[in-house]
Amino acid sequence: MILDLRSIKGQRERVRRTFPGDTLSQGGGDQYRVVDTATLDLDIRKDGGKYRVVGRLEATLELGCCRCLESLPLVVGVDVDLLFLPVSDNTGEGDFQIEESDLGTAFYRDDQIDLAQLIHEQFQLALPMKPLCRDDCRGLCPVCGGNRNTTTCQCVERWEDPRLAVLKSLKSE
Ligand SMILES: [Zn+2]
Ligand SMILES: [Zn+2]
Repeated sequence: MILDLRSIKGQRERVRRTFPGDTLSQGGGDQYRVVDTATLDLDIRKDGGKYRVVGRLEATLELGCCRCLESLPLVVGVDVDLLFLPVSDNTGEGDFQIEESDLGTAFYRDDQIDLAQLIHEQFQLALPMKPLCRDDCRGLCPVCGGNRNTTTCQCVERWEDPRLAVLKSLKSE
């Protein structure tokens, strides 16, 4: 998961790696799961201590629908374009000037780039704010918890607006 920058001898190097999904698991609070493998195909250009990393990250993710919690697949293809600077230049003056202001800038330390971290950050950017299994997902019944896309429960008919219930109780007093 670590790219050792010392292994890059030339000015330019192609790095292509695949990561099995289970090695990219973040543990309990995962927003997504990587199905099968994630493929990282990078072109790395070395310029002194700067590394321009351009390429593509592809994977199929599995997300939870924000309404019904059912899992849904999301095919992700992200164009990666990052400029890695040594972390020491992040503090103090540093010799580097970041000219391409629209370019994503990242930092590396100890001649290493953590590819797992890079992948997670790119996925985070690619995730929809509110993933939906389908546009008209009907969500879960707030009473019985049943999935309204697949089951028709009777709770719906009994549900009433809590504000209305308050009004009713006021009236009866
Ligand atoms: Zn849904
Ligand atoms: Zn219900």
